[in-house]
Amino acid sequence: MAVIPGGSSVPCLPGKLMQDECIMDFDWLRDQKSGLGTAAAIVMDQYTDIVKAIWRLSKFCQHESCGQCTPCREGAGWMMRLTDRLVAGEAEVEEIDMLLDVSTQVEGHTICVLGDAAARPIQGLNRHFGDETEDRITSARTGRDSAVAAE
Ligand code: SF4
Repeated sequence: MAVIPGGSSVPCLPGKLMQDECIMDFDWLRDQKSGLGTAAAIVMDQYTDIVKAIWRLSKFCQHESCGQCTPCREGAGWMMRLTDRLVAGEAEVEEIDMLLDVSTQVEGHTICVLGDAAARPIQGLNRHFGDETEDRITSARTGRDSAVAAE
């Protein structure tokens, strides 16, 4: 389903793209807006909950943030909380774009690379799995509406 080609701090790419076209080098991965990073590839199959997987990375970064600079301290927490709500299907569809917007405000604006590491998985999710994320919100809402109607 998805591959994170360079360790947890680079954006994920669709599995099909990796299977069909991947050249595991700096140039090709950079052209795909991802990266070779540590080259510690993470491969996720169709049974992996991609939203939850990215939430887990987000939670790690939020936990690791030392709090020294504001974009990372506030942004990592904000991104983690919103992805948490995405996992639960409790976010609004409009918040998907807000999440991307916050990630771009964190990326490149921090003292060390942890801020980038927090932002980039979110960007990969948004770029390649926006439909899955939106479906999750929609189906959770439909389920809640059905439950209310049945009462
Ligand atoms: S980017 Fe680095 S220095 Fe800044 S708060 Fe995060 S961990 Fe600390």
